[in-house]
Amino acid sequence: MSNIIIGLTGGIGSGKTTVANLFAEHGVTIVDADIIAREVVNIGSPALHDIAEHFGASFIQADGQLNRSLLRQQIFSNEQDKLWLNNLLHPLIRSQLIAQTQAATSPYCLLVAPLLIENDLMHLIDRLLVIDVSEAAQLKRTTKRDGNTIKQVKDIMASQIERSDRVAQADDILNNDGSSMITLKKAVTKLHQSYLLMVDTA
Ligand code: ADP
Repeated sequence: MSNIIIGLTGGIGSGKTTVANLFAEHGVTIVDADIIAREVVNIGSPALHDIAEHFGASFIQADGQLNRSLLRQQIFSNEQDKLWLNNLLHPLIRSQLIAQTQAATSPYCLLVAPLLIENDLMHLIDRLLVIDVSEAAQLKRTTKRDGNTIKQVKDIMASQIERSDRVAQADDILNNDGSSMITLKKAVTKLHQSYLLMVDTA
């Protein structure tokens, strides 16, 4: 079991996945809230069954998978539905996050969650690392990566915590605005070493 849990968060396109992969190269166990959020509604899962019962059979595709885009539309336009869905999924995601961090074998582990602060997961972690980037970099990298429009990315950004509020909660801040991969890798190695020292004294 890991001694300490480092939370990793940042806005869309800030570089969470990129940075988490660099930590993984050091053998750090990564617990990814996005992956868990997909797993809890896997084919045949009780949560998927509940969703179909609540919203209708059309929310399950012919291949048995959740129709994500339909669900996204549904909760985007209806606050009550969003609340219902969050009440169903958040406890399931939370208990998986806890189980996976408890099963982690590296000296410390990383809990990666885009909405770590927004979804009140701060109490699950010992320390928060925030990837901080300018809005311009977020827009540029996300539109390039996903082919989304600037408006779509801006809408997602508007649903996330303000950059300054996120940074205010951080114990460590990694700026990923102009960093080359080499600079980023060095910064991660430095953080990794500092976390290992914390484990030694924990
Ligand atoms: P997140 O997981 O926070 O949404 P990603 O790690 O997927 O962000 O990064 C968003 C995009 O930006 C990806 O295509 C990634 O390859 C790219 N990216 C990340 N960091 C840098 C960087 N320092 N310079 C250039 N591109 C980057």
